[in-house]
Amino acid sequence: MVHFDDSFSNAKLKELHAHEEERVAQKLASQLGYEYVNLRHITVNPEAVVLIPEKRAKESLAVAFTTTNFNVSIATTNPNAIVFKTLLQNLEAQKLKPKIYVCSAGSLSHAWNKYADVIHTTAEQKGVLVVDAADIRNLTDQITALDDVGKLLVQKDTNSQRHISQTLSTIFAGALALKASDIHIEPEEAGVRLRYRLDGVLHDVADLDNYIYKRLMSRLKLLSGMVLNVKAEAQDGRFSFNSGEKEVEIRSSVIPGALGESIVMRILDPTVASFSLETINLNKHIEKVLRQQLKRPNGLIITTGPTGSGKTTALYAFLQEVHDESKKIITIENPVEYKLAGIMHTQTDADYTFAKGLRAILRQDPDVIMVGEIRDQEVAETAMHAAQTGHLVFSTLHTNNAIAGFTRLIDLGVNPQVLGTSINMILGQRLVRILCDDCKAAHHANAEELQFMKEVMAEHPYPVPVADQQTIYRAVGCPKCNHTGFRGRAAVFEGIVMDETVEEVILRDPRESAIQTAAKPQKIPTMLQDGIEKVLAGITSLTELERVVEFPIKLVTTPNQQEHLVAEGEITNEDFQSRVI
Ligand SMILES: [Zn+2]
Repeated sequence: MVHFDDSFSNAKLKELHAHEEERVAQKLASQLGYEYVNLRHITVNPEAVVLIPEKRAKESLAVAFTTTNFNVSIATTNPNAIVFKTLLQNLEAQKLKPKIYVCSAGSLSHAWNKYADVIHTTAEQKGVLVVDAADIRNLTDQITALDDVGKLLVQKDTNSQRHISQTLSTIFAGALALKASDIHIEPEEAGVRLRYRLDGVLHDVADLDNYIYKRLMSRLKLLSGMVLNVKAEAQDGRFSFNSGEKEVEIRSSVIPGALGESIVMRILDPTVASFSLETINLNKHIEKVLRQQLKRPNGLIITTGPTGSGKTTALYAFLQEVHDESKKIITIENPVEYKLAGIMHTQTDADYTFAKGLRAILRQDPDVIMVGEIRDQEVAETAMHAAQTGHLVFSTLHTNNAIAGFTRLIDLGVNPQVLGTSINMILGQRLVRILCDDCKAAHHANAEELQFMKEVMAEHPYPVPVADQQTIYRAVGCPKCNHTGFRGRAAVFEGIVMDETVEEVILRDPRESAIQTAAKPQKIPTMLQDGIEKVLAGITSLTELERVVEFPIKLVTTPNQQEHLVAEGEITNEDFQSRVI
């Protein structure tokens, strides 16, 4: 009896068909002068696959199957098709070097199945992270301390794609719950470090598996709109996600490193920062002067300080202060960090530089202009010209203190004659962390601390008394402050107003010491004096103040129990920092 096995014959037919298909593809490859590939027999790399969006790959009958650096291997059933050639041009425009292979339709479909594996990535529109808002809220509720994030990250899901999504959700939920300003992911010898910046200082959160790190990087780069396989260059981007309560904007920056790429994500959470002169903790002496300056219809007000000293926040507070319906306010920033209602924000790019943008803005007839940063002579001179022609202009300079702002402008090539007629005021600022009220420890200042504070107060235009048994505070750490000893930050300020005496000295002898003497009658406290006042008031510690404001002497302060955390926070790559802050 003859036994007919349908399934057997179908499989056999399929196999014969597949075999024939491969033979035809092989022949076509050699006729056209390309290499042939059978995608069923090789590992198709998901990182390569996502280089071409699924829809586009299917339209052009192609797939990217391996990639290293800029090289990418592309297989197609028809290398001569116009759609395919357009695809190649597109890849080349992204600096990629495609190598073309010919494959069969069957093996192409097989490779396309890889898109299903990377569906979580490709389904996301560039720039928008799709997370379950309920999931984020649920995670946020579980996180009250740094340790909680580490514990949640350890809980692994067996499905690797879901695991990546969960890791990402946990990292963001943790950052939101703890009010972190930045998330750092850095590969190191010992592993991949996840850190949060809380109140200006970095804290270790957890170590990530290398496996997770690689997938997270790909995912975050895609989201940020960065080129995935560019690994030797710094790239910037941004994306957003919905936390259930609000849209959270993330600005990301990737830099190459010896052990792999590091990413820093700045959380732009408009609800964290509120911009007003009241909330930036101006001391009352500066506040009075500044309010007068902000009432003037024209002139330049500059705030100075290193990266992360709160300059942008201060400028936003100034903008809010002067903002009313009757005024047209335009900013030029790199990048726009927050959007303020009623204010037109613009962002620099390769063509729209600070200098070009500023000239374009002036043609828009604004009343108030904010220029993110003065970096060169052209921007400085354009800003000053604007200030002299009826505009109130706000900007920043990257200098150590207010006085250095004047000398920096001269160094940039600005004519000193112009400073007097264009500048209203230059401010200097730093952020100090505020001691946690639940755990700060009181102690008597030691002899050296006492003498130092007395000396500083002796120079203070409005001195605060320092007692012989002066109580000051140091950081301790408790669950309420994530064991950091601090909660929140306050700014310390100084400022110099342009007046006749200052103008005269700038023209005659623009040394910092001469400018300082000339400004003394203005009776505005320095950052150091302002800071010591905050130490005496128990707002911050001497150690914390010394971290951000230069002391004229090296002080042996009563040890701060959180000193190790402070030191850690300072081990940061300057270049990296300046890219993200
Ligand atoms: Zn505490």
